[in-house]
Amino acid sequence: MRSEPVVQVRGLVKRYGTRTAVDGLDLEVGAGTVTAVLGPNGAGKTTTVETCEGYRRPDAGTVRVLGLDPVADAAKLRPRIGVMLQSGGVYTGARAGEMLRHMAKLHAHPLGVDALIERLGLGDCGRTTYRRLSGGQQQRLALAMAVVGRPELVFLDEPTAGLDPQARRSTWDLLRELRADGVSAVLTTHFMDEAEQLADDVVIIDAGRAIAQGSPDELCRGGAENTLRFTGRPGLDVVSLLKALPVDTLAVELTPGTYRITGKIDPQLLATVTSWCAQHGVMPEGIAVERRTLEDVFLELTGKDLRS
Ligand code: ATP
Repeated sequence: MRSEPVVQVRGLVKRYGTRTAVDGLDLEVGAGTVTAVLGPNGAGKTTTVETCEGYRRPDAGTVRVLGLDPVADAAKLRPRIGVMLQSGGVYTGARAGEMLRHMAKLHAHPLGVDALIERLGLGDCGRTTYRRLSGGQQQRLALAMAVVGRPELVFLDEPTAGLDPQARRSTWDLLRELRADGVSAVLTTHFMDEAEQLADDVVIIDAGRAIAQGSPDELCRGGAENTLRFTGRPGLDVVSLLKALPVDTLAVELTPGTYRITGKIDPQLLATVTSWCAQHGVMPEGIAVERRTLEDVFLELTGKDLRS
């Protein structure tokens, strides 16, 4: 039996004055999953996540987090969730280690603070005040603060923005371990590889609405085109190859001896290409079917590059 979603958002609307930041958004997060929320700048990701955290009151629609109303039931919800904001929310004069220990004491079954500090490469920063930490260290401390209480659900707003590759990887490892422990996570990110690596589910938001939701696999498989590449002798008769292929398929010799076919690449098309090659005495080498990446899907759906 499928368990209740840990986050259920229906028809969420949130306005700032005359600007509609979130415009009838639906979103569901399954228990024990990592969900990545992707969207161009200003799409409404942070507003949506902050509404789920109880920091903003919806203008319309319903939001349920662990079955509770994040505003009306804030006192019950807070101890059960972990929150990592993009910035702020900390007293900048406190030492990193003290802050984390203090946070741990507020919870009944916290994670081991020393192990967590070590884990996130903050071993040298325990006695350093927050304001003297580097941006990346502040980021990792914020993550530690969000998870130290062993929450059932964590909200992470761009958890690896500004981190070096090694720190990103330890953040990913930590999130995977938390998931293995049954913790659910909602994260916003501008990194497609992060979503592809970590997320069970991806929600793409544009102009305040969720325009696609599914596993990275489902999103990349669905719809448009794939590419098939192979190498053979230079100067093959591409027009003759094209005649053998379904309409709407493109075939080009990219560089001498390198061929690319774009279209709906299915087993039948692969068979047609290899049989054409056999008829023309061509040994196709390095045949590769390349799937769309999340980056391609994002671009198709929003018309925008995620990093723009
Ligand atoms: P980014 O990727 O840049 O962080 P986002 O998808 O998280 O963007 P939001 O921060 O939710 O988007 O902003 C959505 C829209 O609402 C934007 O147009 C933004 O300018 C506007 N907005 C956000 N916060 C406020 C606020 N406090 N007051 C007025 N407008 C706001």
